Amino acid sequence: MKITAAVVRERAGAFNIEALDLCDPRDDELLVEVTASGMCQTDLHGRDGYYTTPYPAVFGHEGAGIVRAIGRGVTAFKPGDHVVMSYPWCGACPNCRSARQSYCVDAFPLKMNGTRADGSTLHARDGKPVYSAFFQQSSFGTYTIANERYAVKVRDDAPLELLGPLACGGQTGAGAVLNVMKPQPGDSFVVFGVGAVGLSGLMAAKIAGCDPIIAVDVYDTRLALARDLGATHTINHAGRREVVSDIRKITGHGARFTLETSAVASVFREAVDALMPAGTCVLLGSARAGTEVSFETPFLQNGRTVRGVIQGDSVPQTFIPLLADHMMAGRFPLERLVTFYDLADINRAAAESSKGTTIKPVIRMPH
Ligand SMILES: [Zn+2]
Ligand SMILES: [Zn+2]
Repeated sequence: MKITAAVVRERAGAFNIEALDLCDPRDDELLVEVTASGMCQTDLHGRDGYYTTPYPAVFGHEGAGIVRAIGRGVTAFKPGDHVVMSYPWCGACPNCRSARQSYCVDAFPLKMNGTRADGSTLHARDGKPVYSAFFQQSSFGTYTIANERYAVKVRDDAPLELLGPLACGGQTGAGAVLNVMKPQPGDSFVVFGVGAVGLSGLMAAKIAGCDPIIAVDVYDTRLALARDLGATHTINHAGRREVVSDIRKITGHGARFTLETSAVASVFREAVDALMPAGTCVLLGSARAGTEVSFETPFLQNGRTVRGVIQGDSVPQTFIPLLADHMMAGRFPLERLVTFYDLADINRAAAESSKGTTIKPVIRMPH
């Protein structure tokens, strides 16, 4: 079928709105009419050539939409279902077989190679392939193909155009808190960087009853939003060297939990140094390959844990509907993070996201 999608034709090129051909769903796939898609830093890194995705390419990996057709083998979905498309995993490696699918050892090519696992492409133009299947979804288009394994059915009464960001940024931040840290009410929590992922973590810390909740960032506007969403204290890191002692003053012994989303090595060190004995730092910020950071051994020996987490350790089929329930109950007000853009304005969305003036862009598809 003919669709409209945002195509990046060359490394670091702009998004061009083009008419493409989309293939039919295979036996285990869904045709999804995309309502809207969140934009995440990973889409822009893909546009800029950080990964293995060939060009021309269609990005987007926080898609939400409506199932319009199903492959012959699909039993768990039917046309009309509302779905969020989450991250891909192989289903066969040791981590996938033990419900650790966010650490699938074969995830990288499934996310980044621009093709299905067998090398086939979803989109074409004038008979030539367009590399898509980014995270096995390429959601920056009016329709796409999703494998049933990575699609998540969501409640019909939730605003579908808001749900896409749950697929990556939302479950990454909230899952780090609710699935990994599992705080008790009254545990102290610090988040470094209050972009979409950090604020999702902060909202989850509030759900868990953390107190105090300390937000650290360099933008006062973001810190004001963090306060609205539940931060009891905020620290503007710009030009301030005493962040760790500020946190110790507020918490007494240091923090039970810290969440690092900035991807700055020196900030990661602070997130560890701010821990109390037996505290846990979860690393979400993804720095470029080759980035190193050092820690003091006796300090870590005192029961402190430092852990990297991908996609919030989430099993999307259960965690995304749970976040949608929290959202509908007003406990996870994702709408406060979102700025909507039409597909035609996707380059402006990218620019405003990179500048930090937009926290979570969501691209609405024309239908
Ligand atoms: Zn796997
Ligand atoms: Zn993402």
